[in-house]
Amino acid sequence: MCETTRLLVATGNPGKLREYEQLLAGLPITLTYLTREGITDEVEETGETFADNAVHKAEEYARISGLLTLADDSGLEVDALGGAPGVQSARYAGRGATDEHRYQFLLERMRDVPCEERGARFRCVIAVAEPEGQVYTAEGTCEGMIALAPRGGYGFGYDPIFYLPDQEKTMAQLAPEVKNRISHRARAAQDIRPILERMLRRRHVSGSC
Ligand code: IMP
Repeated sequence: MCETTRLLVATGNPGKLREYEQLLAGLPITLTYLTREGITDEVEETGETFADNAVHKAEEYARISGLLTLADDSGLEVDALGGAPGVQSARYAGRGATDEHRYQFLLERMRDVPCEERGARFRCVIAVAEPEGQVYTAEGTCEGMIALAPRGGYGFGYDPIFYLPDQEKTMAQLAPEVKNRISHRARAAQDIRPILERMLRRRHVSGSC
């Protein structure tokens, strides 16, 4: 008889880990993390799309760990910047920059952009890979605007400067339960959940859980 399947959430970002604990709650899985598995290998994000990077990370970490593995690649697309920073979101203000450096760098680039041209979206692609080689993806977006100044203390990354007109708040002003209902990651997680459920059923039947 199989024990509960372990799912490796392949990220070093504590903000993402906290979100996945909520987003995947209720599934018959035990989450584990790179540090808990003693995995220190860095998988480079060299792809041209979020999907390329998510699939590459999930496949590599599934191969390294031998575990069912979830990876996501996500970021911010700003209309006035032609979709930048996009897949470069983590490296936008150079290597070693903090979240605050990155969003201040972006705000500076947006200094002369009027309110009606500050449209943007968060995008997230989740990939789940089996060590045997199968990989599945799901994508979610969340539309908003780039705020004039940072606000809020929840979340991580660019959340303080991402304004949601419907909520009249930035993403960083939303309690985690609210972000986890409406975010790009929440939408991708909603779509990956039935896929994961099918994979888990199949793995239990074949005894490879
Ligand atoms: P990555 O997906 O870990 O490569 O993240 C890319 C960049 O987007 C990093 O700077 C993250 O902080 C940022 N990012 C990813 N997801 C979110 C989010 O949900 N809110 C705010 N920033 C995010």
